[in-house]
Amino acid sequence: MSSSYKPALLKAIVRIVRAGAEPAIPLLRIGSQFVKLYWVQTVVFRLRQAATIISEPEVVRRIRSAADMNGARTIDVLPPAVRERLDREMARVLTINVLQAFHRSKPASMGCLFEWSPGSEFIIVPNAAMEFVRLNARALESIANLWWARWLEKVNVLAPLVIEKVERDGAERASLTKYLRVLLQIDEPKCFYCRRALNDGLSTHVDHVIPWSFLLEDPLWDLVLACANCNIAKSDTLPRRDFIDKLAQTGLRRAKITLPPGFISPLLAREEIDRYYEAALSVEWPVGWAPAPNLAEH
Ligand SMILES: [Zn+2]
Repeated sequence: MSSSYKPALLKAIVRIVRAGAEPAIPLLRIGSQFVKLYWVQTVVFRLRQAATIISEPEVVRRIRSAADMNGARTIDVLPPAVRERLDREMARVLTINVLQAFHRSKPASMGCLFEWSPGSEFIIVPNAAMEFVRLNARALESIANLWWARWLEKVNVLAPLVIEKVERDGAERASLTKYLRVLLQIDEPKCFYCRRALNDGLSTHVDHVIPWSFLLEDPLWDLVLACANCNIAKSDTLPRRDFIDKLAQTGLRRAKITLPPGFISPLLAREEIDRYYEAALSVEWPVGWAPAPNLAEH
């Protein structure tokens, strides 16, 4: 376990077999699965695949730069040509150091999951292995997730809920409507960032000050009212540090308010909020967002 390639390959094969595959699986199809899996982890959840971003496998860095250059947070908005190039590059990487390494540490008595010979554009999954994967797909995927998460925990030591991030296929999240209702009751109807009044002309969003894709939760202490412009522009980045001070003050003020039933006390110790902020910084989360000065009225 010196990288995430092995669990990634196991997960990719399991998914392809489950989706229905012939014994000869094209490397391009596996490469395409790899791109999807790494995309979710590195672009959506911003987990590093190595101790530093600069030491990540080249293909992972290419996924990041494709996301940045195309302003894409989800893989389906990537232009088809860019997507195809990533898939092809990933398929090539498989032939360099992934396919042959996969079985290297297995006990001699254990059969191979697949066969591949250098130069071939396919792996061959023997019928017995195919049947094994089909019967044990969920267990195999759990094993792959566990080992991938173990690797990610080593290189993203302060990131919360790593295994849940590995298990997820994207950033689908629950509706924030109930939080919008409660925030409109307990906070001033102003954008947390630019301070503009949130009236009918300016649509009101709920923003996670520490990004949802880092926390993977919707704790009330992290949620604020924001105008659509600020919410969209901030996206999933960390705001400038003074907004963390402000978030802590907001929590202190809210702690004096009786919340509607079902909402637990929003107060989180100042040190805890700082700890989350520092933890996100430690995994190189993009930071420093603030509304344009002409927007901010203090
Ligand atoms: Zn705003």
